[in-house]
Amino acid sequence: MRSISSAHIQVRDVTKTYSGDGVGTTALENINVTLNKGEVTAIVGPSGSGKSTLLQVIGTLDIPTTGTIHYDEVEIGTLKRKRLADFRFDCIGFIFQQFHLLPTLTALENVMSPLLPRRVAYDKMSRAEELLGWVGLEHKRTALPSQMSGGEQQRVAIARALVNQPSWLFADEPTGNLDTSNGEMVFQLLRKYQKEYGSGIVFVTHDQHLASQADRLIEMRDGRVISDVPKGWHA
Ligand code: ADP
Repeated sequence: MRSISSAHIQVRDVTKTYSGDGVGTTALENINVTLNKGEVTAIVGPSGSGKSTLLQVIGTLDIPTTGTIHYDEVEIGTLKRKRLADFRFDCIGFIFQQFHLLPTLTALENVMSPLLPRRVAYDKMSRAEELLGWVGLEHKRTALPSQMSGGEQQRVAIARALVNQPSWLFADEPTGNLDTSNGEMVFQLLRKYQKEYGSGIVFVTHDQHLASQADRLIEMRDGRVISDVPKGWHA
C-alpha cells in the first residue's frame, strides 16, 4: 500500500537563518546528521538552541537556508510544491505540544481529516476508526476536543498523524502540556508505533526521563549538535 518509504534521512551542512527587521538570527549552524528508520531519537537542549527549527526543517515544514535534506535518494529541496505535499502525506506525520486539533470536528473527524482531500486505496472511515481504536479512544469517536482531556486530545492528534501510516513521525514537545502519566502514555504510543511499523520517531523534549528512553540522543546548543549518542547510551 505504501507508495513511498525511506530508511534514512540525511541532513547535510544545514543552516537556517531567520531575518526580520534587518536583524539575522542563526537558528541552525552546519548541521550534519543521519536519522535511521526504526529508531526513536530524542533531541534535547536548552530553550532557543534550535531544536524545533531542526525538527521542522527535517520534517519538511520549513526549508533550510543552505544545505540539503535527503530521504534516501529523494532530495527534498528539489520537490515542487505539489510533489512535496504528496511526499509529506505519504511519508511524514507530525504532532505538537498544543495538539492543534480542529475544535469543531469530532475525534473521528479529526483523525480522518488528512485523508479527506486525498485519493487512497482504503476506506477512509474504517482507517480512521482503526487508528482511534489503536490509541484506545474508540469510545470518544463523537467527542469534540473541548470534551476531552489533554492526554486524550494528544492521543487523537497521534491517531491523526499516523492515519496514513507514515514512515517517519516527528513530535515537538509532545508531552509538554501533559502530566507525567499522560506523558508516559503518549511516549508509549510512539514507541508502540515504532515497534509495530518500524517507523522512525524523532521527538524534541525537555523531559530527561523520556529522553532517556530513546534509542538515540541528539543534544543541541546554540544551533549546533554538540553530542549525538547512539543506541545503548543509557545502558
Ligand atoms: P528551541 O526549539 O531549542 O527552543 P528554536 O528552534 O525554537 O529553539 O529557536 C532557535 C532560534 O531561532 C532562537 O534564537 C529563536 O528565537 C529563533 N527563531 C525561531 N523561529 C524564529 C522565527 N520564525 N523568526 C525569527 N527567529 C526565530
